[in-house]
Amino acid sequence: MRYEDFYRRSIEQPESFWAEQARLIHWHTPPRQILDASQPPFRRWFVGGTTNLCYNALDRHLAERGEQLALAAVSSETGLTRELSYRELHREVNAFAAVLVSLGVERGDRVVIYLPNIAEAVFAMLACARIGAIHSVVFGGFAAHSLALRIDDAEPKLLIAADAGMRGGKTIPYLPLVEAALAEAKLVSPQVLVVDRGLAPQRSARSERYLDYATLRARHLGDEVPVAWLESNEPSYLLYTSGTTGKPKGIQRDVGGYAVAMAMSIRLIFDVAPGQVMFSTSDVGWAVGHSYNVYGPLIGGATSLLYEGLPAHPDPGVWWRLCERYGVRSMFSSPTAIRVLKKQDAAWLKKYDVSALKWLFLAGEPLDEPTAQWITAGLGVPVIDNYWQTETGWPAITLMPGLELKPVKFGSPGLPAPGYRLKVIDEASGDEAAPGEKGVLVFEPPLPPGCLSTVWRDDARYVASYFEHFKPLLYSSLDWAIRDADGYTTILGRTDDVINVAGHRLGTREIEESVAAHPGVAEAAVVGVQDELKGQVPVVFATLRQGVGETPGQAAAGMRRCVVEQLGSIARPARIYVVNALPKTRSGKLLRRSLQALCQQADPGDLSTLDDPAALDEVRRALQRGPDD
Ligand code: ATP
Ligand code: MG
Repeated sequence: MRYEDFYRRSIEQPESFWAEQARLIHWHTPPRQILDASQPPFRRWFVGGTTNLCYNALDRHLAERGEQLALAAVSSETGLTRELSYRELHREVNAFAAVLVSLGVERGDRVVIYLPNIAEAVFAMLACARIGAIHSVVFGGFAAHSLALRIDDAEPKLLIAADAGMRGGKTIPYLPLVEAALAEAKLVSPQVLVVDRGLAPQRSARSERYLDYATLRARHLGDEVPVAWLESNEPSYLLYTSGTTGKPKGIQRDVGGYAVAMAMSIRLIFDVAPGQVMFSTSDVGWAVGHSYNVYGPLIGGATSLLYEGLPAHPDPGVWWRLCERYGVRSMFSSPTAIRVLKKQDAAWLKKYDVSALKWLFLAGEPLDEPTAQWITAGLGVPVIDNYWQTETGWPAITLMPGLELKPVKFGSPGLPAPGYRLKVIDEASGDEAAPGEKGVLVFEPPLPPGCLSTVWRDDARYVASYFEHFKPLLYSSLDWAIRDADGYTTILGRTDDVINVAGHRLGTREIEESVAAHPGVAEAAVVGVQDELKGQVPVVFATLRQGVGETPGQAAAGMRRCVVEQLGSIARPARIYVVNALPKTRSGKLLRRSLQALCQQADPGDLSTLDDPAALDEVRRALQRGPDD
């Protein structure tokens, strides 16, 4: 079917469109009403229908594909691989669910999961879903303070943690972090269940009191736990946003709408059919991990490949070896990860047989054209940029190769996904921007199935954060965008990152893109810094590619030339700093606001999500030393 017809139906006849998609999943009782949008901006999908995410991910497949590989969890850190068929995964999840029940966890209770990217994280999530407990996965790389904030907000009955994670060969004990978080958390003191990987033998006195998963598992292996049939709009899980722009929000997802969005998107966007293999390099702690490492592929009867480790460790061929070994069809990663690989020899991309690979999807940050070109040429498969947010839970702007592949346009994630009433509007007037004009990316309610239902226990924050920027009611993405005459949308950066030079509004992304057009550049971050004369001026921080052999001064001159050629002298960077690393969040997003603050001698703000503190020191040193041009 043509994309245009499909999309148009989703907008013009949402109820019949989504009623049809709803048949992709199992309903214990069918919905009474497809859409209730009587209280905007809230909306409820598949009202009165009851279903269960775990049942749809596992039980439903047992008859037809019980022996098929459901999950392969590969760790390049420990060197261990765990492979489970649907039947084996079902057994583990049932045992885990029985453990939860034995610990008094009930429907509606919250369970915080603080685990690395290992099979047990998947078991724990599905076990919660099975009994109707609400999971809140906290990325294992987060420090104690970030964990404490999320514990206090979710008020869990149980916290599931590992003894340790690993990163680049280094063990990171988790239990000291758990202890610090529990000491800081004010509201609750949950029981702690420990998945002991045998990585961190030293234990504190307190950790002796923790429950041991292996012991409890042994007691419950073979148990069958009945699924809890949940009303479509009951909460399934909470997931906090990355916090790039402020205090993280507890995004609340429903059950039925999310299941339907997963079943549709795994087929029509990611082009993965039952029995095929999906490899998402994300961590289960992120939105991508929830949707395309766990729920999407399993609801779709596919095989999910889970990876613990770095993109270039032990060597930059590790992901392509896995593609070869498992016959991966669709792969999902981030521009940040590809830029890490781009610093390495491109020969690694050709070393393994990746002929089963059809598509590489990338999301999370703007995908600059040089990086997209590099990986497309290196792998010989189309690269599909897709735009989404933790809030949306699945791509909002993408191409849909499982339906019909529209032409890839470098720099743009493409066209709106079904159900997204996308508009680009003028920030001041609220009028729709003409093609080629910049504006704010918004979605007209009702949001499609799968998107957030609210902010956990804070309907007011849901309305205020997303729907009060414009009248009439519109969901604001807080991203700045531009649409071309074919309807392809390009993201220009976050609205609060926009740089205002002498009255001209420039997206950080536009300037970053032209800086990266200089061949010596690996990665660039651009921020607007106060200037008495011009209001703001662009300041560039860039890392260089290995082996190009330019001095920082030569590279800076090249970058400036590219910007002036592509965007004009209005965008000319005031200062360019060459550094070894850029400060990013744990999810790989540039912390432009911290960079901007440092440039203006201000407080860099909340750094609890900062990945590598050394990167910030780098920037401080560069600022002291002065620009490289
Ligand atoms: P917070 O909302 O707490 O500040 P965050 O916005 O960084 O955190 P996420 O939901 O993980 O948290 O990230 C979504 C954002 O990532 C988008 O709003 C957009 O700015 C950026 N993004 C995601 N995909 C793309 C893409 N394909 N192109 C450009 N930007 C993207
Ligand atoms: Mg956001």
